[in-house]
Amino acid sequence: MTAMADRDATQTPETFGFQAEVAKLLHMMTHSVYSEREIFLRELISNAADACDRRRYEALTDASLLGDTPLEIAITVDPQAKTLTLADSGIGMTRQEMIDNLGTIARSGTARFMEAMKTAETRHSAPELIGQFGVGFYSAFMVADKVTVVSRRAGADEAWEWVSDGLGSFTLEPAHREAAGTTITLHMKEDAGEFLEKYRLQSIVRTYSDHIAVPVKLALGAEVPEAVNAAQALWTRPKSEIEDKDYAEFYRHVGGQFDAPARTLHFKAEGKLDYTCLLFTPSTPPFDLYEPERKSKVKLYVRRVFITDECDSLLPPWLRFLRGVVDAQDLALNISREMLQHNPVLAAMKKAITGKVLADYARLADKEPESYLKIWETFGRVLKEGLYEDFERRDELLKLARFKSTGVEGWTTLADYAGRMKDGQDAIYYLTADDGGAHSPQLEGYKARGVEVLLLTDPIDDFWLGAIHEFDGKPFQSVTRADARLKDLGEAPAEGEAVPEVDLARLVEVMKGVLGEAVKDIRASDRLVASPACLVADEGDMDLRLARMLKAHDRLNAVAPRVLELNPRHALVRRLAARAGEDGSYDSIALASQLLLDQARILEGEPLPDPAGFASRLAELLSRGLA
Ligand code: ADP
Repeated sequence: MTAMADRDATQTPETFGFQAEVAKLLHMMTHSVYSEREIFLRELISNAADACDRRRYEALTDASLLGDTPLEIAITVDPQAKTLTLADSGIGMTRQEMIDNLGTIARSGTARFMEAMKTAETRHSAPELIGQFGVGFYSAFMVADKVTVVSRRAGADEAWEWVSDGLGSFTLEPAHREAAGTTITLHMKEDAGEFLEKYRLQSIVRTYSDHIAVPVKLALGAEVPEAVNAAQALWTRPKSEIEDKDYAEFYRHVGGQFDAPARTLHFKAEGKLDYTCLLFTPSTPPFDLYEPERKSKVKLYVRRVFITDECDSLLPPWLRFLRGVVDAQDLALNISREMLQHNPVLAAMKKAITGKVLADYARLADKEPESYLKIWETFGRVLKEGLYEDFERRDELLKLARFKSTGVEGWTTLADYAGRMKDGQDAIYYLTADDGGAHSPQLEGYKARGVEVLLLTDPIDDFWLGAIHEFDGKPFQSVTRADARLKDLGEAPAEGEAVPEVDLARLVEVMKGVLGEAVKDIRASDRLVASPACLVADEGDMDLRLARMLKAHDRLNAVAPRVLELNPRHALVRRLAARAGEDGSYDSIALASQLLLDQARILEGEPLPDPAGFASRLAELLSRGLA
């Protein structure tokens, strides 16, 4: 015996701790009993099927990695030992891959995962977390108190054995496996005996994994394994044969989601381009929806061979919430992932698929407006990214867009808004505000005149409105800008007795002296009714919220000073105007000016530059009033 072999034989297994997040997850899995425990099998089969896909893909460039090995998944039960074993002839894992994949949460978004886990813990709903965060493997510990994984990477000679009881650590040691692939053995918990019964297993596989393109075989004891699933890729089956539940299961497998799809689009394109598309719109936002990469997760297949799930050229980033499969006929099988970037066939497909998706939404909005609104509520802010990124799609997206508004309950389309425009109104008015802005002083004059204003809350709104200036010939006009001329819309009907406007010239002069650089200008306003003052952006300046947002993200050094508008009918302003220029009035007017500006800032949601000064001025004014 060589020294080397000697050492191997006596070597004790190496022990590794789980990443803290995994340890917490496992603790949850091992210490609670869930009603949906059977999904562990779906997750393990799903992983095994992906591993088969990957082996087939790698064999495209190196045929020796597959040879004539049949790709399949075999499930065997040993009733005496109370074990359930899944063996696949997939790509397998190296030692390092086993450490990385079966000891950590590989994907980004760990922080969000922990957040979601807190909620799941209180709701006892671990299964919801599993698919969504790519932690499916660990679900084995819902039913097993010990799990063994023996794996051999295709192309490698060595195999490794991973063992864990799910209590904080796992061990690794060299092992033997005849051929490449992965074998997972679950030592079932006392209360998980149902998963050792053949009929129960058959039914689970049929429910969850019928659509898996790889054959799943099942054998009890020494029986000859028999295929349980249909083993035909779901998207290749005729639509008429596919039930909603089949689609839903496939969606969970392919999309790593736990919910049901809100919309399923399944079609086959023939002609210039040949491809099949099965795309799902989720009903809940995927956890990584706002990751900066904005990557599409739709899987690209070429003639049923999996190529990649990281193809940026298949869908625009603003459709990244879609899940599913595109299976192309006209791409070369051995196309490298890099070559996909600039592939003209793919570019043409992207255009066609994007058009199909938008047309499908338009159809849904027409036929089932409620269902469409749910999609808009979940993904509208992502779709709106397309408004400024994709010139070609603007018109379609503007038609699909829905808005909150002062004129209606719920949502409105732009066309409906246009239909309600008043005589003499030629612009589409809007206000962007984080809280919907329903109480913004800038709205007062519009409300009083019965002019409808769209209330936009998504940060993205400020951006696309910077790029799109009109809808159907009608310009968009922010109500927080000096150039929104209300007077053109007629006088506001006065409430009660009409109060005449006072001349503000003297007051404005004094206030300008007091406020100096803090404001760009001070003017009489025609947009205010109940409030004494508000801030607006000057003509040509950046809209208020956009400037705030860019500043918050360090994209702007300083927010340009605003125009302070005063309401010439407001009692306070009138009193101040009357006193302006009187002897001894300067102090009170200075105090009031600063308070008016701060009050306008507060209403605008802007931070006060000097909160202590604000508080002392307010106290001063109150004590004068009480004296
Ligand atoms: P997910 O499958 O969502 O990535 P899992 O926790 O289920 O998350 O699996 C983690 C990783 O472990 C997988 O991404 C894959 O790389 C690897 N893995 C799991 N099972 C297998 C298998 N049967 N064959 C090869 N690799 C596997």
